[in-house]
This record gives sequence, structure tokens and C-alpha cells, in this order.
Amino acid sequence: MQNRDNNVKDRQSTILYVSMSPMDKNIDTFVASLGGVTDSHTGGLVPAVHMGVTHVLIPGEAAIGYARGGAVEGSLFERMMVGLDGGAAALGFVSGASAAQALLATFAKGSHIVLEERGYYEFRGILMRAAEARGLAVETVDLCDTEAVAKALRPGQTALIWSELPTNPEWRMPDIRRLSELGRNAGTRLLVDATAATPYHCRPIEHGADIVLHSATKYLNGHGDLTAGALVVADPNLREKLIAIRTENGTVLSPMQEWLLLRGLRTLAVRMQRASASAMAIAEWLAAHQRVHTVHYPGLPGHPQFELASRQYGRGFGAMLSFRVSDSTCAAKITNATTVFRQSTSLGSTESLIEHRAMTEGEGTLCPDDLIRLSIGLEDPRDLIEDLRRAMS
Ligand SMILES: *Cc1c(COP(=O)(O)O)cnc(C)c1O
Repeated sequence: MQNRDNNVKDRQSTILYVSMSPMDKNIDTFVASLGGVTDSHTGGLVPAVHMGVTHVLIPGEAAIGYARGGAVEGSLFERMMVGLDGGAAALGFVSGASAAQALLATFAKGSHIVLEERGYYEFRGILMRAAEARGLAVETVDLCDTEAVAKALRPGQTALIWSELPTNPEWRMPDIRRLSELGRNAGTRLLVDATAATPYHCRPIEHGADIVLHSATKYLNGHGDLTAGALVVADPNLREKLIAIRTENGTVLSPMQEWLLLRGLRTLAVRMQRASASAMAIAEWLAAHQRVHTVHYPGLPGHPQFELASRQYGRGFGAMLSFRVSDSTCAAKITNATTVFRQSTSLGSTESLIEHRAMTEGEGTLCPDDLIRLSIGLEDPRDLIEDLRRAMS
């Protein structure tokens, strides 16, 4: 009897509580304190890592069981994501790709998916191959063209509109509210891959989206040292279905990875604020440069979607931008000549990155071959501009 009571006590002691209800404070306050987390066993302000794979079964108590199923009440990261994106439930995964695979597994064979045509090229390939293997019909459409979307939707058959906010590498913005209306009329759900937007700039569920996908590998973690993914869903019924699939696939986020991710998440607001302000300054500087004929940044008043971006975004316009120069050779010369900007792919870490995007994407790319993509990090923006000035002279 003594033993059993101790077990119960130990089990309770592993529960962390979050005192702040989701986002009843500003996002800066919410993430900096991880929702006011306290370890109820030690009183620690830093969450403990619980590495146990299996858990003792106590007669009369609900089983916690085996770690592959994930945390019964949702992990701290998952509860943070519910607060950040304002959904009914959130699930953590080992990568953005595994989050996407889990979602695709929820659809019945023969379902039709309308996918952003001009989105992140590698992910588009992953989604199309996975969908084909599952007998799903994928149709790629420019989701900024709402007439084309309306035409592509097949009421009763289209299960999902899969959008990206904003699209990579031209940072075009689909109109989330408009897409969700079109989807609703056709009985179709709307997913927004908001990896590049982050909840700091946009909470798509508030604009009518049903599902938000994040590659937490990028800004949510923010330090380029782990892969992780998240799905946030407006419909609570989707949670059990996705947990069952994640358990079968074995793609739940591990405790140590999640702990690192939470450490990164604490500084999300301050990182986004800095990177986004620097991106704006760099976009303005590039727009005035004689070698540049186009700057893709939704925060520039001349951008065709500036008004929509201002409506859908808050606190700036994000840390990703692209620009075009005279030709492919010139683009290659510039990307080879920077020293503060590191020549590398990916985004969302502390260091700024530059890439000649068509080269990264390779054959079959829709990206113009004179386009240079920048991921803005946390360096002093004056150093970043000076680096570009030298590389472009
Ligand atoms: C990186 C990325 C993904 C894929 O996520 P992983 O964590 O690399 O699996 C999906 N969507 C976008 C927009 C991304 O940038």
C-alpha cells in the first residue's frame, strides 16, 4: 500500500503546469516564460526532462503506458503551440515532414488535394510522392489566384487546400480568409504551412484556417540545431486520429529534442522582432540598388500584396526575402562573395544565409535563375548591408 501511494505521488510530480492560459498575455510574455511553467515537483522555472519510455500501471488509474504514444494531456510544447496558434489541439513531431505525412494518412484513398504550385519545391515533391503512394489525387494550383482555386475545387471530393504562408522563394501571400471561404463552400479544409510566418506574425486559424503546419526546425527552435514539426488543429476530433497515426509511425518528438525546442521557443518573439526589422531595412536598401530589378518582400509598399500582407500579418513582415539581379552569373558571383551571409540553404536560425536559389532547387525548378534568397538572422543589420554592398560592387 505504501508503495502504491508513492507511485501515485511520483506520477503526479512529473506533471508540469502552465499557469498562464493560452495567450491571455502578449506573445512576448507568453513565450519568454513558457506560459509561466513551473515544475510542480521542484518548483523549477525550467521544465524537467522526463526520459522514461514506459510507466508503471496503477490499478484504478488511467494508463500512461509507452512513450511512442506521446504525453496523455499533451506535452508542454504542444500546449504552447495551442496557445500560440489558438487551435483546439497541437501535436509535436520529429520533423515538419513527419507532421505532413501524418496528416496525409488521415485522408481516404481517392481524396483530392489542392496544393500550392509555387511553394517550397522540395516539400512539394515530398507531398506529391507521399500522396501518390496513398492513392490521393494532388493538383497544384497558384493559390494566390482565387479564381483558379474555385475552379480546381471538387465539392465532395477535395479534402484539403494545402497552402504556404508566404510562398518560398517569392514570398507571395495567399489570402487565408478568402481560401477558407472557398474551402468551406466546397466542404474542404484549409491547411496553412506557416513555417515562415510563425505565430509571431500570423495566426492562420483566426483567419479561418483549419490546420496549421510548422517546421519547428526553423524559427520556433531558432538555432539550427534540431528538426521538429507541429500540427495545430481547429477541430479537436482530429487530435485522436493524428495521435493514432503518429503512434503507428513512431514519429513523436523525443523528450530531449522537445526540451531543446522549448529553450529556443522562449526567445521566439525577440528573435522575430529583430530579424523582421532587419529584413525590412535590407529590402528597402536592395530596392534602391541599381543592380537589383525586383525585390520580393511583402513589407515593401510597392509589393503587389502589401495591403493583404498588412491585413494578415502583424508586427512586421517576416525575415525572408529574395531579390533578382541581371542574370544567373551575376547571382552566382554575389552569393559566392558574401562573408557575413553564409552560403547555405534553410532558414530560421540565428545566422543569415544566402543562396542562389535555382541552383539549390535544381532541374525542373520554377524559380528564376537570377534570384537570390536571403534568410535574415540576428546579426547587426549594418553588417549585413555592408556585406551585400561589397559583394554587389
Ligand atoms: C523546412 C520546411 C518544411 C519541412 O520541414 P522539416 O522540419 O525539414 O521536415 C516544410 N515547410 C516549409 C515551409 C519549410 O521551410
